[in-house]
Amino acid sequence: ATPTAVTVGVGRGAELGILIRNGEALEVAERVSTVVFDKTGTLTRGKPEVTDIVPVGINEQTLLSLAASVEKNSQHPLAEAVVRAAEGRGVKVEAATGFDTFGGRGVAATILSETVLVGNRAFLNEKAVAIPGEIESQIVLLEQEGKTVVLVAAGGTIAGLIAIADSIKPTTREAIARLRAMGKEVAMITGDNRRTADAIARQAGIDTVIAEVMPQDKAAEVRRLQEKGGVVAFVGDGINDAPALAQADVGIAIGSGTDVAIESGDIVLVRDDLVDAVAAIQLSKKVMGRIR
Ligand code: ADP
Ligand code: MG
Repeated sequence: ATPTAVTVGVGRGAELGILIRNGEALEVAERVSTVVFDKTGTLTRGKPEVTDIVPVGINEQTLLSLAASVEKNSQHPLAEAVVRAAEGRGVKVEAATGFDTFGGRGVAATILSETVLVGNRAFLNEKAVAIPGEIESQIVLLEQEGKTVVLVAAGGTIAGLIAIADSIKPTTREAIARLRAMGKEVAMITGDNRRTADAIARQAGIDTVIAEVMPQDKAAEVRRLQEKGGVVAFVGDGINDAPALAQADVGIAIGSGTDVAIESGDIVLVRDDLVDAVAAIQLSKKVMGRIR
């Protein structure tokens, strides 16, 4: 039979906006040694906004139009930011054909009979598009500010870059500080590039960063930490995060996240406030204290 303390704990959690879907997770949570956070939509608001538009050989409107015409077909938060920027500036979004998505790298489509690529460095390299030195230096500066740079190529040559910023949630720093004060190791995992990831981690107060992780590899990173002896909690919101949430000893899903993430979580945070992840661990401590 379920010990009464766990039942009471689940009830108390519900009052606090912490939905415990798996009572066992409440028992394990107090023993967590490492808490791994997804970046986008978990540490950050997940509402990225275009901050810089740098065209190469064309004008700003054309660059934004090309990028938005491709991104219109993608559900990625970066794509939504590009489309919103185009619409906000009254830039025309053209019909795309042959849209294709390359997970963790970018997207492509034909716009006005030209192949347009939108994605990161690795994606353009893979498609043999050269990135001029002065563009590379601008990318580095923008990434150091914590921005994600999306590159655009048309007809096989670079057409420019679009920088996108996603700010950390107001209570992220506090939640991380509290976990560290409790002696937990804290890490961030992301598909984003190393420099942007480091800048966001610095803002959040996290010093262990696992960057440039392909969507399908997040769960393997969690397993690696477990194999080193850690009891791992993973906190995430995205479709990409579902396998890692399932792999973790305690999977904590953000309530405003995707359905797949919520279904994979042992614990769901109704408010998307990371301080509630700390409260879940404290609740576990209380409950287990009562059982012993
Ligand atoms: P995250 O872990 O931040 O959610 P993803 O694995 O979804 O990241 O994507 C990793 C990287 O791939 C992004 O930072 C971006 O550079 C690139 N990327 C993925 N999808 C797109 C897209 N639709 N448009 C532009 N770039 C993209
Ligand atoms: Mg996310």
